[in-house]
Amino acid sequence: MKVRIHAYLPHSRANGPGLRAVLWFQGCTLNCPGCFNPAAQALDGGEEREVDSILAALATVKDIEGVTFSGGEPFQQPEALLELSRSVQALGRGVVAFSGYTQNVLCRQPLGASILKHIDTLIAGPYDDACRNPRGLIGSSNQRIHHFSSRYAHLDFSTLPNREAIIQPDGSIVLTGINPIPTEKLDRNTLIKKT
Ligand code: SF4
Repeated sequence: MKVRIHAYLPHSRANGPGLRAVLWFQGCTLNCPGCFNPAAQALDGGEEREVDSILAALATVKDIEGVTFSGGEPFQQPEALLELSRSVQALGRGVVAFSGYTQNVLCRQPLGASILKHIDTLIAGPYDDACRNPRGLIGSSNQRIHHFSSRYAHLDFSTLPNREAIIQPDGSIVLTGINPIPTEKLDRNTLIKKT
């Protein structure tokens, strides 16, 4: 099975509780007003990978608490998301997922309820620039956090940093988080990868 991805980070502290790997899915048709990750919208962008190769990479990252699935829209690749979330939980790790759909809409999707059984916490709802209010993992105040297990609690999310800059071995900087550092504030010669 294949999955189209936008980016992958083995270690992040701004995309969920504790140290986590993050997988950004590529492709989203929701067109949220003021989408904060437009580069992840194109359905033919990013790169196609085998789900098994992603799982193999995740299995080698020993020190993480869990994995966060972001995007793009993870639920628009439901078969891959189900396989990934089920396998990550089987490894004993926590699963956090973002979606531009509300929980009610997800439950009506063919694989929605099955996927949610393998997600510990869901950040749900379309991003709306008109009610932008970055805090924890919430980007706009209409979005909701749903816990489907006791693994995480609201406090775990309210204390998260909302931005992060990771310097890579090649000198490039990955900017991430719900309220990333504006790129114009960085040196123009810096190679920037914004997720
Ligand atoms: S769900 Fe995310 S990627 Fe899709 S349009 Fe909304 S903000 Fe952008």
